[in-house]
Amino acid sequence: MMASYSPLRLLILVVLLFECWAVSTARSFDFYYFVQQWPGSYCGTRRGCCYPRTGKPASEFSIHGLWPNYKTGKWPQFCNPSDEFDFSQISDLVGELNSHWGSLSCPSSNGHKFWSHEWEKHGTCSLNLEQHEYFNKALALRSKIDLLGALKSAGIKPDGGDYSVSDIKEAIRNAIGEEVGVDCNVSEDGEYQLNEIYVCIDKSDASTVIKCPVYPHSKCPSTVKFPLFGDEEEDSTSSHQNTGSDEL
Ligand code: 5GP
Repeated sequence: MMASYSPLRLLILVVLLFECWAVSTARSFDFYYFVQQWPGSYCGTRRGCCYPRTGKPASEFSIHGLWPNYKTGKWPQFCNPSDEFDFSQISDLVGELNSHWGSLSCPSSNGHKFWSHEWEKHGTCSLNLEQHEYFNKALALRSKIDLLGALKSAGIKPDGGDYSVSDIKEAIRNAIGEEVGVDCNVSEDGEYQLNEIYVCIDKSDASTVIKCPVYPHSKCPSTVKFPLFGDEEEDSTSSHQNTGSDEL
């Protein structure tokens, strides 16, 4: 006997099948990239930046995100639209988030929009991490992985000088035990500068540094600038005007 399905039942079936497919696709991610950005490079482009409403960030690498990735170089994204960012779940982390995961995009903001984007695009694909754990894991990784300390102890400083990318990678490998990915952007003067560092992290605990299964595509030439972002720079609320405030 053939079962008959109403259009509504069929629609529900299709939605359920799609959700199963989406979950199983995302579950098969292979590792995380933990990505930190150099504020002097984010700000030192023609686009410029806006400091967070909490003020100018410290002269430290800050968090861009913790991203589930496939070893093919591709990645899952926006894995669970119903799991929306909910600031109340991470309100106890706000001090640390402001210090280490502030948003530098314009207009100036309190970071909620950036954190919401990172959770909804990347965090929802971790599947096994709840929002609080996801943000907490990223903050713990930042305090464990001292990129600036590693670079400084090899004589590589954010002083506007030129440094070889292989020396940058070696300095960090000596400190954390594994090779990292390095990406660059272009300054107002058209020079390549050290922008982001990618550290590969084990998907099972979101905390162990591992050998990268694949490196991100890099725009860096062999030598790059490491720009200032500190007291030496003019001390305004924004390095490039753009002082509007956003809706959040
Ligand atoms: P993703 O690279 O995680 O896919 O997207 C980053 C998004 O967050 C972009 O839309 C970018 O404009 C926004 N954003 C807000 N603040 C920042 C920041 O400080 N750094 C970076 N890299 N992106 C930011």
